Amino acid sequence: MIRVDLTSDQINHLQTLVTGLVSTNESVLDSHSHDESAFPPVRPSAVVMVSSTEEVSKVLAYCNAQKIPVVAFGAGTSLEGHVVPVHGGISLDLTPMNRILEISPDDLLVRVETGVQRMALNSKLSHEGLFFSVDPGADATLGGMAATGAAGTTTVRYGSMRENVMALTAVLADGTVIHTGRGTRKLSAGYDLTRLIVGSEGTLAIITELTLRVFGIPERMAAAVVRFPTLTDGVAAATAIVRSGIAIARCEFLDAKCIRNLNAHENMTMPESPTLFFEFHGSPQGVAEDAHSVKEIVEEFNGSEFEWTSDEGERRRLWQARHNAHWAAIAAHPGMNGVSTDMAVPLSQLPAAVAMAEELLARHPYPFSMLGHVADGNFHCQIMNDPKNDNELLEIREIVHEMTMKIIGMGGTCTGEHGIGGGKITALLEETGAEAVDVMRKIKKVLDPQWILNPGKIFLA
Ligand SMILES: Cc1cc2nc3c(=O)[nH]c(=O)nc-3n(C[C@H](O)[C@H](O)[C@H](O)COP(=O)(O)OP(=O)(O)OC[C@H]3O[C@@H](n4cnc5c(N)ncnc54)[C@H](O)[C@@H]3O)c2cc1C
Repeated sequence: MIRVDLTSDQINHLQTLVTGLVSTNESVLDSHSHDESAFPPVRPSAVVMVSSTEEVSKVLAYCNAQKIPVVAFGAGTSLEGHVVPVHGGISLDLTPMNRILEISPDDLLVRVETGVQRMALNSKLSHEGLFFSVDPGADATLGGMAATGAAGTTTVRYGSMRENVMALTAVLADGTVIHTGRGTRKLSAGYDLTRLIVGSEGTLAIITELTLRVFGIPERMAAAVVRFPTLTDGVAAATAIVRSGIAIARCEFLDAKCIRNLNAHENMTMPESPTLFFEFHGSPQGVAEDAHSVKEIVEEFNGSEFEWTSDEGERRRLWQARHNAHWAAIAAHPGMNGVSTDMAVPLSQLPAAVAMAEELLARHPYPFSMLGHVADGNFHCQIMNDPKNDNELLEIREIVHEMTMKIIGMGGTCTGEHGIGGGKITALLEETGAEAVDVMRKIKKVLDPQWILNPGKIFLA
């Protein structure tokens, strides 16, 4: 597919279909030309702001008839070039769809429009003593999170978007509106279209509404930190804790360089050693018992200086710092960009996988730091590059590819949570094989025969 630029007639017609703006303003096009990755920006031909399922349906029916590519846009925080409109067409901005439609405390459910951002949702839910658990750090939209199958620091306890989207409304490429799933805890009715659309990165349908599972805010939440002499000790301790069955709510590792970056960025004074951050949720007695059991396990792996707190301010400060690790790394390397990797392995392979990644990156001149949702076997390397030197980015992509191939060889996956986007098309092929990718291609062809929805992502036509 070549680049599609809209004619003024097409732009004028789109404007008749929506109440919001259809914009060709340069700064609006620029803000929809990239995500938070190092992928080169590409401007869409126009940005269309939509306010309802009906508007999305009309816009898609028109774009389908005119063969205009449509790239859904939430908060633009994805990390694999997901929202870059590589074939032009329109960027479909869903942020005006930001209403929380219904909170059902008795059912532990909430129904939202797709453009609601997770922090706004949690702020509203807190008045009901509830919270939405999936927490990718960035203040993403729920639609974007569903479309990428997002996960985060709390996934070990509460699951990812794949477990927490109960039902959704979506618009297919030809404008057909479908409803999938129910607000029930169990469902065995036909093919699981909800989970087909969750994680499909805007290539199969546009999500307009979501019914999400929410949880009661725990009576007590406590955080803990513990330091290790080596990264491998910390990672091995984390996997032992998961195997022990202790119901940790979060368990994150950060290498010494991450801690150094955070100290500078967040004005903190943590010892610069490989560190695990934990969180425990439950009754006051249960939380204290869990923290005690974790302390005993980490000591077997040379963990020391175990500190824990149930002070709400300190707990929030610790996790705010963890969420800022990406920005702390960038701030520590002025003028540089960061490439964030995302790999996951079976738990038993995690210490070897992290050691392999560290050893591979240490052979190259690029500054890097490592951190991860270790209790899920998922870790990230943040590799810094000079944006003015294209060769550096190319070389880093080769290093990441080599690392990814090794991870796949260990039984792991090229992405635990960020998704494929435009960056991991080859890795997906290596991981699943050509036959499985061909099944995905056939599914897309049925739902999107003109190939208008986010073309150039996940796999090629
Ligand atoms: C600092 C930082 C930390 C991060 N940490 C994590 C993490 O821990 N875990 C994690 O999973 N991710 C993480 N991410 C990545 C990112 O936040 C997630 O991928 C998030 O889910 C993207 O949501 P968004 O609203 O920004 O979507 P966008 O970036 O706008 O879009 C992402 C994809 O979804 C599609 N899309 C968006 N809305 C819709 C819709 N309504 N219907 C259909 N398709 C749609 C887009 O076309 C695109 O393909 C992080 C990013 C940053 C910058």
